[in-house]
Amino acid sequence: MSIKIKRCTLNQAKELVKKLVKENGLPHNENALKDKLLWAFVELGEASDAFKKGKDWMDVTEELIDVIFYILDFIGLVEDLKGFKIDVDKVFLDKWEKNMTRFAKKAI
Ligand SMILES: [Mg+2]
Repeated sequence: MSIKIKRCTLNQAKELVKKLVKENGLPHNENALKDKLLWAFVELGEASDAFKKGKDWMDVTEELIDVIFYILDFIGLVEDLKGFKIDVDKVFLDKWEKNMTRFAKKAI
């Protein structure tokens, strides 16, 4: 069955990544934690490489999305291992607000 999802929040994306990991039997345990972060770096390297080689912007963007996948995968794994939820939308917006304040102070 194919479900075409058009839009999602970061929290929804995190759940979609969990579904992807579960349905494909990908590692989802304590030992996998460090690998998730390592793979995020690998994917960032792939994005950098695609950029340096002048590849299509969508190719570069897709590699950057891979980074987000691994970051959300890491956060989702932390949730499951530690038994609590992390509201990544809230964390993102709180951090955005913090950065906005920080840069606004610099401009003065
Ligand atoms: Mg990739």
